[in-house]
Amino acid sequence: MTIREKILVIEDEKSISHFICTVLNNNGYEAMQAQTGEEALSMISSHCPDLIILDLGLPDMDGLDILRNLRSWTSLPVVVSARSHERDKVAALDLGADDYLTKPFGTDELLARVRTAIRHTRTVSGNDEIARNGTYTVGDLVIDYNKHQVRVRGENVHLTLSEFRIVALLGKYAGKVLTYDFIIKELWGPRASGDNQILRVNMANIRRKIEKNPAEPEYLFTEMGVGYRMAEGN
Ligand code: CA
Repeated sequence: MTIREKILVIEDEKSISHFICTVLNNNGYEAMQAQTGEEALSMISSHCPDLIILDLGLPDMDGLDILRNLRSWTSLPVVVSARSHERDKVAALDLGADDYLTKPFGTDELLARVRTAIRHTRTVSGNDEIARNGTYTVGDLVIDYNKHQVRVRGENVHLTLSEFRIVALLGKYAGKVLTYDFIIKELWGPRASGDNQILRVNMANIRRKIEKNPAEPEYLFTEMGVGYRMAEGN
C-alpha cells in the first residue's frame, strides 16, 4: 500500500473546490475540503495534512490571517489561490506562502505547483539534484554550484558575480516563484533598498546571455508584479 499525501483544500466556492479535489484524487493525492477558515484551522490540527491549498478570499476570515496563524507554528507548505489581486499574492508570499495559483487555473498548473511545494519540503536545499551532484539542470542549461559556472548548450556563459548569484538562487528554488523582495534580501542583505531596478537590469542581462530568445524565455519566467521563477527540471 502506498501512502497518499493528504492535501487540505480551503475554498468556499463549491465548483472550484470540487475541481481541485477531483484533480488531486485522480492524481494520487488524498484531498480533504474545508469551506471556512474556522473549519480549516480545526482540520489542520486534527488531520495534519502534507500540503494546504488556501483561497485568500474566504467568507469568515482573511486568508492572510490564516497564513499568519499557520506560520506562527508550522512550516507546512501552503499554496495560496486568488483572483488576480497582485498585492495579496505578494503579501502571501512574503508571509511565507510557498507558491500561488491565479484563478482560473488548469489541471497542469495545479499539479505542477503541488508537486513543487511538496518536493521542496523533502530536501534541505529544496532541490534534489543540487544536494546530490552540486548541479541543477533544466533543458540545455546547467548551473554548476561547485565551479560557480552556468553552461548553456555546453558553452560556458560569462556572468558577473551578481548575475550568477541570481541564477543560482532561482535554480535552488526551481519551480517556485521568488518575490523581488526575497531575491533582493537574499543577495544584498536585509538592509538593501527595496528598489527592483538593479534586479531588473541584472535579469535583462542574464536573459540576454542564457535565453535563445529573451522575449520568449525558456528558463527564467517573469511573474508580473510578483517576481521570477526558474523552469523546473526533470
Ligand atoms: Ca473564495
